[in-house]
Amino acid sequence: MTDYDLVIIGAGPAGLTAGIYAARARMKVLLLEKAAPGGQVLVTDWIENYPGFPEGISGFDLAEKMKKQAEDLGLEIDTAEVKSLNLSEEIKEVVLRDRTIKTKALIIASGASPRKLGIGEDRYMGKGISFCATCDAPFFRDKTVVAIGGGDTAVQESIFLTKFVKKVYLVHRRDELRATKILQERAFANDKIEFVWDTVATGVDGFFGIEGVNVKNLKTGAESVIKADGCFIWVGILPNTEFLQESVHTDAWGFIIADAKMKTNVPGVYAAGDVRETPLRQVSTAVGDGAVAAVSAEHYIENL
Ligand code: NAP
Repeated sequence: MTDYDLVIIGAGPAGLTAGIYAARARMKVLLLEKAAPGGQVLVTDWIENYPGFPEGISGFDLAEKMKKQAEDLGLEIDTAEVKSLNLSEEIKEVVLRDRTIKTKALIIASGASPRKLGIGEDRYMGKGISFCATCDAPFFRDKTVVAIGGGDTAVQESIFLTKFVKKVYLVHRRDELRATKILQERAFANDKIEFVWDTVATGVDGFFGIEGVNVKNLKTGAESVIKADGCFIWVGILPNTEFLQESVHTDAWGFIIADAKMKTNVPGVYAAGDVRETPLRQVSTAVGDGAVAAVSAEHYIENL
C-alpha cells in the first residue's frame, strides 16, 4: 500500500510545474516544501526573461501565481522537511521528522542554495553579510556595499542594489564577467557600480556589523580593505541534496544526473530544476524539467 502515486520534493518552479502536470493527470500527488513555495525565485527581485510577462514580473509575484495555479488544480502542498529517502525497494519511502510517506514515484526538485566563501558568513549573517538583495537592500539605503561574484546573480542583484545604496563595489576574481551580456551592459553603464577586478575577498572587518571587506588582488598579491557597511555574496550555488543517499548518482558537485526524461539511475526517481546537472538554471528551464519529470513519472506508474 502506498500513500501517494507521486511525491515531489521542493516547491520552486520545477516542483510546482511537476505538481500542476501531475494534478491535471489526476495522480495522487503530494508536494513537500520545507520553507515557502517559490524557491530561489522568491529572492529574485525582478524576472524579465520568463516568457509571457513582457514588462517583467517580481519573483515573489511569479511564485505566488505558480502556487495558486497548482493549488487551484488540486495539488496538495505540505510544509515539511525531508530527512532521508529509502529507495531500495519499488515502493519508495520519504522520511520526514514525524512520519514516513510511501510513494510509487518521486520527483526531486529541491533546488540549490547560495555557495559560501568562508569569510564569516555564519557570524555576520543578518549583521552585514547577505545573500539576498531583495530581502536586505533597504537596510543599506545610502550606504556603501561590496558585492562578490561575476555571474548573472551578482550582476543583476548589484544593479538592483543601486536603487537603494550609494555605491556598490563589485568584486570579481577575474577581469571578465561570466554574466549574460545585457546584464553586463547595464552594470557597466551604472555609475553607482565600481568594478574591482582580479580580486577575492579574504575576510570582513567589524564588531557589531561590517565596517570593511578585506580583499586581495590575485595579479599583484596586494591586500587592502574596502570600507563598506554590507557585503553581498553571489558566487554560485550548491544543490540541496542533504537528504539524498548515495544510491542516486550525482556529478562531482552533487548535482543529480538525470537523462532527457528526467530519469535518474533509480527507477521511479526523477530530478528536475536547479538540483539537476544541467547547462542552464533558469525559471524557464526548471519549468520544462518539471513538466517532463511529471509525465515520465506518470508513464512509469502506468507500467508498474
Ligand atoms: P554562476 O553563474 O555559477 O557564477 C558564479 C560566479 O561566482 C562566477 O563569476 C564565479 O567566478 C564566481 N565564483 C565562484 N566561486 C568563487 C570563489 N570561491 N571566489 C570568488 N568568486 C567565485 O552563479 P550565479 O550567478 O548564482 O548563477 C547561477 C545560475 O542561475 C546560472 O545558470 C545563471 O545563469 C542563473 N541566473 C540567471 C539569471 C538571469 O537570467 N537573469 C539571474 C540569476 C541567475 P568565475 O566567473 O571566475 O567562475
